[in-house]
Amino acid sequence: MSELPRRTQALGRQLTGQISDLLLPRACALCWASGQAMLGQGALCRVCDRLLRYSSVQVSLASLPLTDLPVATAGSYSFELARAIGAYKNAGRRDLEPYFLSALCRSFDLLLTRTAASSLAGQPLYLVPIPSSRASIRRRGFAPAQLLAAGLARNLGSQGWEARVLPALRQRPAYRIYLQGGGALLGAQKTLGLEGRRLAVAQKMELASPAWSLGLASWNLEGRACLLLDDVATSGASMEAARILLEGQGARVLGGLALARVPKRQSGTGG
Ligand SMILES: [Zn+2]
Repeated sequence: MSELPRRTQALGRQLTGQISDLLLPRACALCWASGQAMLGQGALCRVCDRLLRYSSVQVSLASLPLTDLPVATAGSYSFELARAIGAYKNAGRRDLEPYFLSALCRSFDLLLTRTAASSLAGQPLYLVPIPSSRASIRRRGFAPAQLLAAGLARNLGSQGWEARVLPALRQRPAYRIYLQGGGALLGAQKTLGLEGRRLAVAQKMELASPAWSLGLASWNLEGRACLLLDDVATSGASMEAARILLEGQGARVLGGLALARVPKRQSGTGG
């Protein structure tokens, strides 16, 4: 098929999708209410909309055991916020993104008041997404932190910041970790103590090379002001591993942003 009919077809599908969303709104991403309850609503019914807004205005700096970077989060990883993050990541409810972007903007505002980031006005700010594992990118078809970083960069841009996404990190393929003798740490993160988790996460993360099409051998990070971005902050292991890699290349890592922090009693898992 030639290029033009293909584009027309794609546009047609997109329009049909938008029209059916107007006529037949999707079910609420949290309680599955449908029909009347969803008329004129976005991803959530009115009740869940309020609950999610409420649970994502509890902005604070998280105290994470494995990093002393300031990490600002918009709420606790529980109830509506946890379910919304799950629906976004695992059920493809990308229509929740506006809620998450305003939550990240609130976290950003808090971080500004608490760190040297406030002295950055007028300088470019680089948002570095914490990389997802290759398996989860394949499963979901997208990397949540990277999409959120792109959305946040747009939102900050409209507030006068020069914010750019810098995908400078990635997860190493599992076979290379096995080859280098780190297999015992793979997949066992939930049963590892804090130190084990720090090692496991550090072993999985590495500097990414720029897309071939950009014609760069490596990212130039020297002196760049970076903010790390993740969906959920647990132990701080990922933020710390990212900070070490970026600072090793001369970047200035000012802090981290995440949608939610895992409450202490649950933080036995994750990065
Ligand atoms: Zn609902």
